[in-house]
Amino acid sequence: MRTLNLGILAHVDAGKTSLTERLLYGAGIIDEIGSVDDGNTQTDSMALERARGITIKSAVVSFAINDVTVNLIDTPGHPDFIAEVERVLSVLDGAVLVISAVEGVQAQTRVLMRTLQRLRIPTLLFVNKIDRGGADTERTFQAIKQKLTPAVIAMGSAGSLGTREASYRRHDATDAEFMASLAELVADHDDAFLAAYVADEAISYDRLRADLAALTGQAQVHPVFYGSAITGAGVPELSAAITEFLPATEGDAAGPVSGSVFKVDRGPAGEKIAYVRMFSGTVRIRDRLQFGRGSDAKVTAVRVFDRGSAVPATGVAAGAIGMLWGLGDIQIGDAIGISSTDAAAHYFAPPTLETVVVPRERSAKGTLRVALAQLAEADPLINVRQDDIRQEIYLSLYGEVQKEVIQATLAEEFGLDVSFRETTTICVERPVGTGAAAEFMGAQNVSPHQNTAPTFTGDPNPFLATVGLRVEPGPIDSGITFGLDNAVLGTMPLAFFKAVEESVHETLHQGLHGWQVTDCAVTMTHTGYAPRQSHAHQGFDKSMSSTGWDFRCLTPLVLMAALKQAGTTVYEPMHGFRIEMPANAVGTMLPALTKLDAVPQTPTMSGSTCVVEGAIPAARVYELQQQLPALTRGEGVLESAFDHYQPSQGAIPTRPRTDHNPLDRKEYLLRVVRRVV
Ligand code: GDP
Repeated sequence: MRTLNLGILAHVDAGKTSLTERLLYGAGIIDEIGSVDDGNTQTDSMALERARGITIKSAVVSFAINDVTVNLIDTPGHPDFIAEVERVLSVLDGAVLVISAVEGVQAQTRVLMRTLQRLRIPTLLFVNKIDRGGADTERTFQAIKQKLTPAVIAMGSAGSLGTREASYRRHDATDAEFMASLAELVADHDDAFLAAYVADEAISYDRLRADLAALTGQAQVHPVFYGSAITGAGVPELSAAITEFLPATEGDAAGPVSGSVFKVDRGPAGEKIAYVRMFSGTVRIRDRLQFGRGSDAKVTAVRVFDRGSAVPATGVAAGAIGMLWGLGDIQIGDAIGISSTDAAAHYFAPPTLETVVVPRERSAKGTLRVALAQLAEADPLINVRQDDIRQEIYLSLYGEVQKEVIQATLAEEFGLDVSFRETTTICVERPVGTGAAAEFMGAQNVSPHQNTAPTFTGDPNPFLATVGLRVEPGPIDSGITFGLDNAVLGTMPLAFFKAVEESVHETLHQGLHGWQVTDCAVTMTHTGYAPRQSHAHQGFDKSMSSTGWDFRCLTPLVLMAALKQAGTTVYEPMHGFRIEMPANAVGTMLPALTKLDAVPQTPTMSGSTCVVEGAIPAARVYELQQQLPALTRGEGVLESAFDHYQPSQGAIPTRPRTDHNPLDRKEYLLRVVRRVV
């Protein structure tokens, strides 16, 4: 049986949950239709999701349509959770994008469609709510063409719009206008077909549909359907189209194991569960599995999805989705088996906001730490930062709504009552020039300048290690790279190089101004160690032999000295924005944007609507969201997403350090060695 991993995506409230219920009902998985409005639907798991009517954590439900097993993977619908959406998207074979026939194409619909196109996910469009007052399928279809993609075709039409009797009628070969549009659309994308079409050869309807399916499978064109998730109109036709137009996979169950982890959860006993999409091969219980960056572990249990729920199985094969137990270190986004080409990691925009989480009861701090570590494990983009000095816990965020979700999760799953301090922006630092420093074992401190003799600064090196490092700017988006100068290759045991490399990454979490350093190339230029002393009848003598600890302690001092010499610039995150509003609101909007430090481009007018695009500091996006209704009399629609970093303006923003502060030698040594040297 073939498998189709399907996602349903929609702007909040367009009807994703209702449509999911409808499809499950149609497939006989549930006996009655739950109602979103009563809060008892199959896929909404958290109370907050129910309360807000939004879906956040992805869950999987499986059902059969004809001879295809459909794994329906639930995806979040709020812009704050775009990272989670993308993670799920990378495992999909196809998607249905739901658009409301009443509200039409909304900001989030555009973001989702763009993401689907970027990832080349075959997508059908479902125009929902044809039964609701105000439904207008023609207007919605035109909006789809204008705002989403021109490569669409209406596969049917809707009648009795805006009434309970609203119905869907599918077009067929007898419909001349439909046949002409279909031929034109296929001809636009298929040269062989175009040649036949121009030569006026007779083309069968079956061939056209097969061509349409092929083009849809390549995510080049998108069939459009109409219906109502509430009355069920058009849903059977959509269901049939899911298997006709979206490409189910068989996969090579005997091939090498390859898969991708798109969700990590905890079971009732706190055990880790990894949700994996298999691309190739089969994973069985008791298999030793490789995953992530060099980890491996034994699979202790497997479940696969079957008719609605997850059932125990002996293995999970190519194409399918399985739940795996026993992989303690696994993280969301990890590849399993042979590393697959899907580089899921860099689809994600970084979180640009940060806040401090405070438990209402001081005594709950320990529990809070554990709880947040678990949340971060399910979503490594959450990133928890612990400040041991101030005893504070920082959390990175994508938006304000995420705070509420985290607050509710902590309350519900861990019984923790927390509040947040005000949200701040997360900046990064990039080195400006080149800097170098070195400290020699048993010698005075040295800072070598290029081609000059080392200068002694007079501070003794308390560690049994020699470390010299050079810091230079790296290409944009290169992150941190660590390399060895030719002169030091093979001069020490590998473990010491590893200790230095790890310490470099760790240290650069906080640059000169406290921000993560990025796009920075670090080269090791000097090495030295005291070999292990092994006199007869004598054990290992720490006071005479270097250990990894020496290198780990010394590296931050040397690195920060080099970085200080190089200098850094602080960059703040900028979002790209797009505002659609009534044309007469533009006069008040532009000065308001300037006040928010946004840089708008020239507005473009089309009829009575006006679109302004531009860039805005991430720090100001929330204010813009707040002001938007007043500025546009409630009619403005804002889209925004991280775009780039730009040098921060005005006073340099700094972040309080949470490390031992290697910029201050005395303080650092005091903390690290617990004595002043
Ligand atoms: P989601 O946020 O995309 O999951 O949307 P929901 O399924 O929660 O639906 C949002 C609201 O729209 C709920 O009040 C639904 O009852 C209503 N709704 C969803 N689909 C339809 C539809 O086809 N017709 C009508 N009349 N209402 C709908």
